[in-house]
Amino acid sequence: MCGIVGVIHTTSTSQKECWVTEVAFNALLALQHRGQDAAGIMTSHPEQPFSMHKELGFVSDVFDRETISSLQGTMALGHTRYATTGQNTLADTQPLHISQSVGMVHNGNLVNYHLLRREIESNGGHLTTSNDVEVLLHLWTHTLEAERGSLTKAVIKATQTIFETVDGAYSVVGMMPKLGLFAFRDPFGIRPLVLGTDDKGNYCFASETSALHYVGFRLLREVKAGELVTISPIGEIAYHQVQIEKVTAPCMFEWVYFSGADSTLEGLSVYQTRLALGRGLAPAIRSLIRNNIVSVGVVAPIPDTARPAAIALSEELSIPYREIFLKNQYQRSFILPHQQDRERAVQLKVSPIFSEIEGKDILLVDDSIVRGTTIQTIVRTLKECGANRISVAVACPPIQHSCHYGIDLPDASTLLSVQKTADQIAQWLEVDAVVFLEVEDLRRALGHRNICRGCLDGQYPTPLCGKTEFTQHRVAK
Ligand code: 5GP
Ligand code: MG
Repeated sequence: MCGIVGVIHTTSTSQKECWVTEVAFNALLALQHRGQDAAGIMTSHPEQPFSMHKELGFVSDVFDRETISSLQGTMALGHTRYATTGQNTLADTQPLHISQSVGMVHNGNLVNYHLLRREIESNGGHLTTSNDVEVLLHLWTHTLEAERGSLTKAVIKATQTIFETVDGAYSVVGMMPKLGLFAFRDPFGIRPLVLGTDDKGNYCFASETSALHYVGFRLLREVKAGELVTISPIGEIAYHQVQIEKVTAPCMFEWVYFSGADSTLEGLSVYQTRLALGRGLAPAIRSLIRNNIVSVGVVAPIPDTARPAAIALSEELSIPYREIFLKNQYQRSFILPHQQDRERAVQLKVSPIFSEIEGKDILLVDDSIVRGTTIQTIVRTLKECGANRISVAVACPPIQHSCHYGIDLPDASTLLSVQKTADQIAQWLEVDAVVFLEVEDLRRALGHRNICRGCLDGQYPTPLCGKTEFTQHRVAK
């Protein structure tokens, strides 16, 4: 997963300014939760070559005053990376560009990446990274160069070619010195992408609305699924609906876990949705309490994502809400390739509040269970701190299939809900009960819109040709 941003300063033609870089940098700070492996910014001006700075690490570590002032121009692209495919090396970081003509950043995953890569190479194309945005760049530029018509026509054709040949999830922002900024979203709209303005006529594309607000822009509208949006250097916007699918399929995990609680996706507040997910768990818990299977003195979240679900569940049950862990805000990145390291990471991330745990009957709420590392480590900590009885509520249905669209869900065999039922998980954790949200309650919380729920029921919106190779190339996390 990744966070992306694109900024255009339409009210200036100066080559010597870094306003767009500052906006992109701040927007990336607000998107840091979408990826912590690497960050990069590239700037452009019609009269000068691209400038770029990118490195592995957090946004605030990658950039300082000096690097920001060295990136000048009237357009900027920014990227913060969570490596799920390719390698976590500098060569695979974004933005990427081809010569001085096109730059791009991308969020998502291309399912048929390896097939497309082989096709490009067998036609004499040369790819230098294992990052899937390079395939998009290549297809885009190749189509553009082959088109004889106007630039607008060529850009529409290039987007159409990508929509017709690339299967998967891709929200893309790009820049071309003469054309300006452009952005498109795959025909199923799997990953988010929004457009904002500052009312002076400058524009910013970003993965989430929270990033727009953070840089003082307001939401203009979402980039629609299958749509191309272009913004010229003097601020002329054009919307082109290049492809229309009967139903779109935004990823439900954006609301469940990935997006910031302060964002709004498809008009649906992430925070409000998480409250609704929590409320959806109430009837099942109430029935367990009535039957004396669980005893609940306090409802407590695993911070931070599960907090709204726990608050709403506590309200529904009329049982007090408590914080029993604080998140360590100053945790830095460290390399965690193995399972033991993952357990250690969970311990380092949160710190127990002993007074709220000892002797208490706790209903622990988490947003989701993937491998089960978090819940197992947290339950163990609660027992060490002297909790009396423990039960678990999960504000997402069981995850039983891997994700081909960018969420870091591993090979299905390592998913806890593939190995065990809810009752077996309760036995394994040695807790009174484990309750998962029902799919119907998830659908209700999301306003019954069509969603991608491939990880829940294995029904994926796009063809999956090439998925085996894709799975083999995952980054081990
Ligand atoms: P588990 O520990 O079961 O493998 O993963 C579930 C926990 O990790 C939950 O607490 C959830 O908040 C968090 N989580 C879920 N999906 C992701 C993801 O894609 N990346 C990261 N870093 N954490 C995740
Ligand atoms: Mg969590």
